[in-house]
Amino acid sequence: MIRILPHIRRIKRAQKRSIISLEKNPENPETIASDDFLQDLELTLTTMGVSEIGYATVSEDEIFQQKGILYTNAIVITAPMDREKIDTAPSLDSSDTSFASYAMLGEIVNQVAGFLRTNGFGAQADPALGGKVSFPNLAEKAKIGVRGRHGLLISPANGPCQRIAAIYTSITNLPVSSENPHAWIRDFCKTCGECARNCPGDAIDRGTDPGSEIRRPFLDAKKCHPYFEDRHGCGVCIRVCPFHIQGYERIRAMVKER
Ligand code: SF4
Ligand code: SF4
Repeated sequence: MIRILPHIRRIKRAQKRSIISLEKNPENPETIASDDFLQDLELTLTTMGVSEIGYATVSEDEIFQQKGILYTNAIVITAPMDREKIDTAPSLDSSDTSFASYAMLGEIVNQVAGFLRTNGFGAQADPALGGKVSFPNLAEKAKIGVRGRHGLLISPANGPCQRIAAIYTSITNLPVSSENPHAWIRDFCKTCGECARNCPGDAIDRGTDPGSEIRRPFLDAKKCHPYFEDRHGCGVCIRVCPFHIQGYERIRAMVKER
């Protein structure tokens, strides 16, 4: 616990800053960003350590109860966790990297919100822990990846080994993509089930659910949370996921060969 305390302090600072800084939003924010500005923004995010960037529009029913967002245009970002530490999950090391990524993303979204405001845009940072929407859903909507059976985002850069955060902005011309090139992951998950077989909380459905609507994700959060919270983290479902062990590209090549 002592090891993760510094990360928790950073996370709380980021959450507080995301609220306090809202008063700095311009009264009449700009709504259109040039291509050059968006390219600069992506470059800045990459130099900050962000792995992947996507864009989505948030609908009202996606916002958690008693939470609110100022703008429905979302910039969604991911940051990796330390692979070697996740390989020891459940452990202090795996919790350490998980909270470190939450903390890092919290700081990044606040910096980006500040950068957007400096350039005349409205912005609201949504740090990675205690978000206003389901980040895996939002990242899937932003076409960064797809939610796996374990409920986590699986993406090319990090497989499931990452955390997610968002910045909501007044920019209305974000380059939102229409197709999700990672949709095939859903079929792979139906036949894999490795996370379900290894989940210590028995929180992930083992069925393939043939012939009916795909129930995604297969995760029962009520069973996961007690186990997760008792140990200040878990991560077994990340450690055993083939997208973590072998990587996205190798799994995709294997699926194509079938
Ligand atoms: S975090 Fe642990 S308890 Fe929760 S779903 Fe994953 S493996 Fe199961
Ligand atoms: S372990 Fe298998 S079933 Fe679970 S999310 Fe990863 S690929 Fe999907």
